[in-house]
Amino acid sequence: MNAAVSGYALLLAVTGRATLAFLSPSPIGISTNMRAASGSDNSNNDSKVGRHIVVVGGGIQGTSCAFHLHQSSHLTPGSTITILESQKLASAASGKGGGFMARSWGDGTDTQTLHELAFDMYESLSVELNVESYRKLPVISVAPGPKSNEKQDNKKKNPQLAGIIPNWLDGSVGRLSPMGWGEDTAQVTPKEFVDKMMEYVNQPGKEPGVKIVIGKCTGIESVEDGDGDKVVTGVKYHNGQEESILLADDVIVAAGPWACQAEQWFDNAVKLPMEGIKSTSIVWKPPLDDDGNVNIDAVEATALFCGEDSRFGTHLLPHSIRKVEVYPRPDGTVYICGIGGSDYITTAQLQASAFLEDCPPKSDRVAAASSAFQMMSNSYATKGELSHAQACMRPCPPDAKPYMGQVAGWKGAYINAGHNCWGIAWAPACGKAIAELVLEGRCRSVNLEPFDPARFTSSRERGGRGRKKGSANVGEQW
Ligand SMILES: Cc1cc2nc3c(=O)[nH]c(=O)nc-3n(C[C@H](O)[C@H](O)[C@H](O)COP(=O)(O)OP(=O)(O)OC[C@H]3O[C@@H](n4cnc5c(N)ncnc54)[C@H](O)[C@@H]3O)c2cc1C
Repeated sequence: MNAAVSGYALLLAVTGRATLAFLSPSPIGISTNMRAASGSDNSNNDSKVGRHIVVVGGGIQGTSCAFHLHQSSHLTPGSTITILESQKLASAASGKGGGFMARSWGDGTDTQTLHELAFDMYESLSVELNVESYRKLPVISVAPGPKSNEKQDNKKKNPQLAGIIPNWLDGSVGRLSPMGWGEDTAQVTPKEFVDKMMEYVNQPGKEPGVKIVIGKCTGIESVEDGDGDKVVTGVKYHNGQEESILLADDVIVAAGPWACQAEQWFDNAVKLPMEGIKSTSIVWKPPLDDDGNVNIDAVEATALFCGEDSRFGTHLLPHSIRKVEVYPRPDGTVYICGIGGSDYITTAQLQASAFLEDCPPKSDRVAAASSAFQMMSNSYATKGELSHAQACMRPCPPDAKPYMGQVAGWKGAYINAGHNCWGIAWAPACGKAIAELVLEGRCRSVNLEPFDPARFTSSRERGGRGRKKGSANVGEQW
């Protein structure tokens, strides 16, 4: 820690409370050799003093937090919101995931509210933010058919589903069954949603918006208060050239699978076991009409969930295929994931930033998924062209529940990560929930108790002096 920040730490430690002001004209990038004046009291969410909030991670979860903080009537004047992103916005799963959502597909347990609230929020936010890739669409379950390259009239063969069988599903398929008729299932292209949220909060003339700083978070600065708690004072980052500090009253770690790096940032006061499931996905180009123009209308909107496909030799890797998910998008492209051969990346690897800068797809998966798709779609077998292949990681805590809440023993420290295979679908609800927690001191929209970031942390290891269970005050423990 540099001398200036140490001085600031000392000031807070002595007074326990101070007012944040910046000597820099912009409250954002403070190089370690610049001097910070003072800081606000993180423990007082009703403070009328502007808060300086840093979100680590610019995926859909981080940007959603920033968006809802910005939109909240509880954000006090003079506050700043900064996203610290190591690569670029939506560079990981939030730019490469499918974007499928389903209001009633939850299992009725703790995450059900996230499905429902977020689904309804997407519908209204997409209008407000002018998101063109959002739409409701039906879903069909497809069993693999015989190995054949013949064109098939599947609408005629399945008259009861003819209205939702897409025109491009004209190859070999087995049994078709409806999974949704387009009322409670929808899609969005997540990168567009991220970009539109940031455009909305950064409209010219609507200052202050959300500032984006490119740099890799390397630690959290803090001081200790009279309760024995740590109080966040800043976020350390490296921009490739030098280390700097963003002054902060609050930090929200929303770094997807890499959020487990925060164990170290918070002095191991919280354990964040995480597995990154790294999977390949492919995108097909939109078809062209006879004049060579993109023909979006040729791609009817129905999503497919395909059964395990042994036509490519389940036991003969690399040609086996798991459960392909096919999402035609409103821009005429077709996105395909769920193609098997995923790699399981450990917490230790993620803490060492595995696949943060580069996450290459697997060519054998691209070949297998392309074959499977072209067998069910004669249109794409005869005229389709692959646009690109990519890979990204699902962030998976051991119990498949996200980490959402305050870090025990730390004032101004929050986690919002580990949303598994529903991180896009849940993003508006999670962003709203975390914004409420940070700005109002409690979350009104979602019961966060099951998502306590400290649920894998023994009480002995938790930060502070044991007065808190997650963000709930439980009094003295001894
Ligand atoms: C193939 C695939 C398909 C999917 N399909 C769907 C779907 O259809 N529907 C759905 O709801 N979900 C889907 N998901 C899951 C979804 O994509 C994720 O749950 C979601 O994108 C996670 O968002 P995030 O913002 O938490 O993390 P990420 O998108 O991973 O973003 C984390 C960000 O943090 C940044 N970062 C990391 N470390 C640091 C650091 N030290 N400092 C600064 N920045 C840092 C990264 O650069 C990254 O931009 C899919 C996932 C995969 C892999």
